[in-house]
Amino acid sequence: MSRVHNFSAGPAALPLDVLEIIRNDIPDWQGTGMSVMEISHRSKEFIELAARCEANLRELLSIPDGYSVLWTQGGATLQMAMAPLNLAGPEDTVDYIVTGSWGKKAAAEAAKQCKLNIASDGSDKKFTYIPAESAWNRSDDAAFLHITSNETIAGVEFHFTPGGDVPIVADMSSTILSRPIDVSDYGVIYAGAQKNIGPAGITLVIVRNDLLEPARENLPHLMMWKSYAESDSMTNTPPTFAWYVADLIFQHLISNGGLEAMADRNQRKSSKLYSAIDASAFYSNPVQADCRSWMNIPFILADASLDAKFLQESLAAGLTNLKGHRSVGGMRASIYNAVPEAAVDALIEFMAEFERTNG
Ligand SMILES: *Cc1c(COP(=O)(O)O)cnc(C)c1O
Repeated sequence: MSRVHNFSAGPAALPLDVLEIIRNDIPDWQGTGMSVMEISHRSKEFIELAARCEANLRELLSIPDGYSVLWTQGGATLQMAMAPLNLAGPEDTVDYIVTGSWGKKAAAEAAKQCKLNIASDGSDKKFTYIPAESAWNRSDDAAFLHITSNETIAGVEFHFTPGGDVPIVADMSSTILSRPIDVSDYGVIYAGAQKNIGPAGITLVIVRNDLLEPARENLPHLMMWKSYAESDSMTNTPPTFAWYVADLIFQHLISNGGLEAMADRNQRKSSKLYSAIDASAFYSNPVQADCRSWMNIPFILADASLDAKFLQESLAAGLTNLKGHRSVGGMRASIYNAVPEAAVDALIEFMAEFERTNG
């Protein structure tokens, strides 16, 4: 068996020891004589899994009692529509801070459902920064404030929580579980699973209980957070396999020191990669230093005609998925929880060698 160093932005790397548990579990899960994919979500074994999964997530993120943990389908993208549908009526105003492509998508969904106020937009500097909070143009009566905690494409991350009294709705798809957070700062947190939680197909939504009641009538059953809260997220058949893997990931995180340990490691991983980029005139990262992402690190080569060669040779060296998003160009290393520090070291070493032979 040979495993590569995988810098994919998502679906992303999973820990090898979790993959080995899965491989071992598949033919006969927990002595049932079936795989977890072949068993009812209403079986005793699966209901136990769901309860353990939530308890472990609550422990990892210190989720307060007044919040519900929901598991939905449709990815973070569906939550971009469900947030305005559940929290605002058609005449209500909502405030959005747009710091990259995902925030722009979220704002476009909100515009279809209610009155959108883009309170701030970082596109004037190609989404390489988070505009100062003092310059935001928030409305007086917003139903909520939406932020994208980490913009996966440009690599821009909030390292502060906005103030104010309205509920904050945060798309944390590419930063959740990378460090401890204070859940009570937020009204709603949502995240697609395929970065730090598990495989694609399941979506985490954490909702403060007073926000569960939909702000409008006649929403489809599966579009109401309340339906999930009332059915332990078994309002219809859930993506059981993805849920099972998320449960294994949470156990793995707990036995590896929890989110404090993840934060230490993630900070170390990202700062050594930024240092290597900044120390070189051959590579650069355009993001303002105080909002650089811990998870997604874009970097461009001074000579873009070397991009293809960089990608080809890095692949040959066992470093995969380094091609940058087409909107930014160059390279992007996504270094989520499951990307080991050794992978970052190998990348830094490769970059130095590439610079030495091509610079
Ligand atoms: C990946 C990602 C999404 C899209 O998630 P889907 O699960 O594909 O809908 C949305 N927002 C952010 C910040 C992401 O990183």
